[in-house]
Amino acid sequence: MNPIRRKATRAITVGGVAVGGGAPVTVQSMTNTPTPDVAATVAQIRRLEAAGCDIVRVAVPDADAAGALARIKAQVRIPVLADIHFDHRLAIAAARAGADGLRINPGNIGGARKVRAVADCARERGIPIRIGVNAGSLEKDILKKYNGATPEGMVESALRHIDLLRSFDFHDLKVSLKASDVSRTVAAYRLLSARTDLPLHLGVTEAGTLFSGLVKSALGIGMLLAEGIGDTLRVSLTRDPVEEVRAGFEILRALGIRQRGPEIIACPSCGRTRIDLFRIVEQVEQALAGSAAPIRIAIMGCVVNGPGEAREADIGVAGGDGVGVLFRKGRVVKKFPEGQLLDVLLAEVRAMEEQLGPKGPKGLKGPKDPNTKHQKPNTETPEDMHRR
Ligand code: SF4
Repeated sequence: MNPIRRKATRAITVGGVAVGGGAPVTVQSMTNTPTPDVAATVAQIRRLEAAGCDIVRVAVPDADAAGALARIKAQVRIPVLADIHFDHRLAIAAARAGADGLRINPGNIGGARKVRAVADCARERGIPIRIGVNAGSLEKDILKKYNGATPEGMVESALRHIDLLRSFDFHDLKVSLKASDVSRTVAAYRLLSARTDLPLHLGVTEAGTLFSGLVKSALGIGMLLAEGIGDTLRVSLTRDPVEEVRAGFEILRALGIRQRGPEIIACPSCGRTRIDLFRIVEQVEQALAGSAAPIRIAIMGCVVNGPGEAREADIGVAGGDGVGVLFRKGRVVKKFPEGQLLDVLLAEVRAMEEQLGPKGPKGLKGPKDPNTKHQKPNTETPEDMHRR
């Protein structure tokens, strides 16, 4: 398999976390609590941190929300971005309250004078701005020129905003181009990626409920990442934002770009399956939800074929006809009563986690960044950056 060659982009930092410039692809999410409810927002961000979220965005729809930012920031570890629409004064208030970055749509923030005021404030504070272009809110002249919200129109809007901010000598930028359908989103990012070296934030907006949202995001974000496009991402789901983070890491893992937490492989099940596979898989997934070590775990439905079929797993269990087996790298190391399947597996995983630390077993890929074309990859993970 050819490694993914990531497009070289400029590096920016968001609250100490690098985005672009060969840094590991970061996973973002957005809180859905009312931002002025500081306790609820902090609690949600802490859950996101535990799930591995690198950067979080909070909505700042009014002065109360902007005012709450400083108190939120003081209680969480990951960078907090402020999401602003319509009112440039809120962007300035959020920056002054300590936001680590701003997400604005310069098309709806007012005229050039207001955008300049936001850029001046962001420069003073040393924070980046994400230009968030949305197919649903393109400028009227662009809609007319392209006869609708086409990928070309979205890119023209993005380039216009990039030029505007650069004309104010503001360069600390990243860009997103979101549409609610996969093909437009992918086409727009491809076009933009060919026109700029700014880091790109990937996402399919209004991606939908868990099932359809996961499919759309995996396709849209996955296609782009596979082509080397994208420096940071958010999977939008109408769900607990923690699910967005899990989904983001699954997409990165599936492409071999970055790993976090155990990978659970279950056999697809067949007529030989003699255990309640689905339930056991769910229980293991729940029990290991907070784990960061990238251990490959197999849960197989029969003791005869299971261990051999899961040769690449670090550890695994298989069960049937009253017997459970524990195996490592496809070799059975222990037999036990089938009822102990879950307990034996979890004890083994915990022991391996302790032995190897959060980076996981040797030979397994930890968070990494595949070959970047023109730059030496920065393999430092966001977790490392927080530690230093
Ligand atoms: Fe069937 Fe066993 Fe293979 Fe699972 S591991 S699919 S139960 S043969």
